[in-house]
Amino acid sequence: MESNDPYDLLILGSGPAGDSAAQLAAGAGYRVAIVERQRSPGGVVVASGGVPTKTLRETAMYLTGFMDRRTYGVGLALQPEMLADRLAARTREVCQTIAALIREDLVGHGVELIHGTGRLGPGRTVTITPNASDGPVRTLHARTILVATGSRPHRPPSVPVDDPDVWDNESVLGSGRIPSSLLIIGGGAIGCEYGSIYSAVGSRVTIVDVAAQLLPFLDGELSRRAAATYRRAGVRLILGARVDAVERVDGRLTVRLADGTVLEPDGILVAAGREVNTAGLGLHAAGVAVDGRGRIAVDEQFRTTAPGIYAAGDVVNPTLASISMEQGRVAACHALGIDLKRSVASVPLIGVYSMPEIGMAGLTEEAAAGQGLDYEVGRCDFARIPRAHIAGHTDGLLKLVFERPTKRLLGVHVLCDVASELVPLGQEVISRGGTIERFVDLTLAVPTYTLAYKLAAYDGLARLAPARIPVNGLRA
Ligand SMILES: Cc1cc2nc3c(=O)[nH]c(=O)nc-3n(C[C@H](O)[C@H](O)[C@H](O)COP(=O)(O)OP(=O)(O)OC[C@H]3O[C@@H](n4cnc5c(N)ncnc54)[C@H](O)[C@@H]3O)c2cc1C
Repeated sequence: MESNDPYDLLILGSGPAGDSAAQLAAGAGYRVAIVERQRSPGGVVVASGGVPTKTLRETAMYLTGFMDRRTYGVGLALQPEMLADRLAARTREVCQTIAALIREDLVGHGVELIHGTGRLGPGRTVTITPNASDGPVRTLHARTILVATGSRPHRPPSVPVDDPDVWDNESVLGSGRIPSSLLIIGGGAIGCEYGSIYSAVGSRVTIVDVAAQLLPFLDGELSRRAAATYRRAGVRLILGARVDAVERVDGRLTVRLADGTVLEPDGILVAAGREVNTAGLGLHAAGVAVDGRGRIAVDEQFRTTAPGIYAAGDVVNPTLASISMEQGRVAACHALGIDLKRSVASVPLIGVYSMPEIGMAGLTEEAAAGQGLDYEVGRCDFARIPRAHIAGHTDGLLKLVFERPTKRLLGVHVLCDVASELVPLGQEVISRGGTIERFVDLTLAVPTYTLAYKLAAYDGLARLAPARIPVNGLRA
């Protein structure tokens, strides 16, 4: 044992779950360390997730004028090599800045950052194997441990990910080129985000998914609307189709679908889900149980089956950075008895940063129907919103799902270029059990996209009492 003075909280992994837990615990005065196997802290968010993908998206939109070409009649046309260089340079710069900020915050909170790969041992110990020649293997002792080792891309065995033109969301960042045509396997958030980015920079994009609906967690109407928008932007969608084989035939990438269709893309991006990082963690020996899918099993306090060992973030269920951060904070509070956050809020915001964005919170129309609720909807098309016309982005919809007898808001669903910024207003009303009349009461600024809430609420009320609500005469 290296120290008789154990850490209060020792964390494996510096992604959103580990980083947030560490800052909260250290801020409350506890002795905290994070073990991270990568040189830079920040986890997937900085290495291959939200920061690089959203930077690529912004850069692609700016450099190509993708969303604004029709409005202004102009757009830049950079050579693909120059475009690829600029995208990579800007992404690198932003990722380095955010990683430095995370490091600064951790150090500023007094968190010790230990570089190496951690493995659980008996009696709440962690053995740290340094990468390369960073020093000897050492074992640290802690009062409590948080496992926040996150997730990585799932690599289907049928897809040759060692081929230089077949990428996952990690390797694509180092590909250094813009393929003339890109086949994306998987129509979830990552597939749709990359589909938009590559379409914007000039690739002919095809998305194949085994599900009949794109982004299957979305409200069905929003999913269909998103699919129509992507198609108009030139993205080919092949839904309800299974990829049977990916191989090189006469030097060309060849993809065979189960129905016999053969595609020959210039590049392939596999976006077929995520797997948890639990291999080599010594979970079994430490008494930490996993569920049927290999994910660490936790209770509502994020306690594992081993006393004093907690787990949070993607390693318990790959989701989002926002959710992982909250789970990490709640886990730290329970582990150390900090009276700040006892549970993760029950209405998360789900964002898809395609072009345009999609955001949702609460129940979809299908979920409300599935639960047998007496519900109604209210809609506002952004073609009715002056701000959307001013920006030239009128393709979009805000949809409210609410309980008919009480008018209680159950769900909010938005497709528009600032969807993730709009949803929190609805999310807050849902969280507080508020009704759609809240939007009628608010005086909102004009011109804003937010006004769509008011028009959607009027639309919903008009469906309840058509004769009494003058919805047709309303203008934002
Ligand atoms: C392409 C993409 C885009 C995304 N976009 C968004 C988005 O826009 N918004 C959003 O909210 N979420 C987004 N996500 C999801 C988000 O990135 C994850 O939910 C989040 O990173 C999970 O955080 P985490 O802390 O659980 O794990 P991770 O971020 O995976 O971090 C785990 C860390 O643990 C380290 N580690 C693993 N094993 C060990 C070990 N044995 N010892 C030491 N260190 C170890 C890893 O190196 C890593 O740094 C995106 C994901 C991807 C892939």
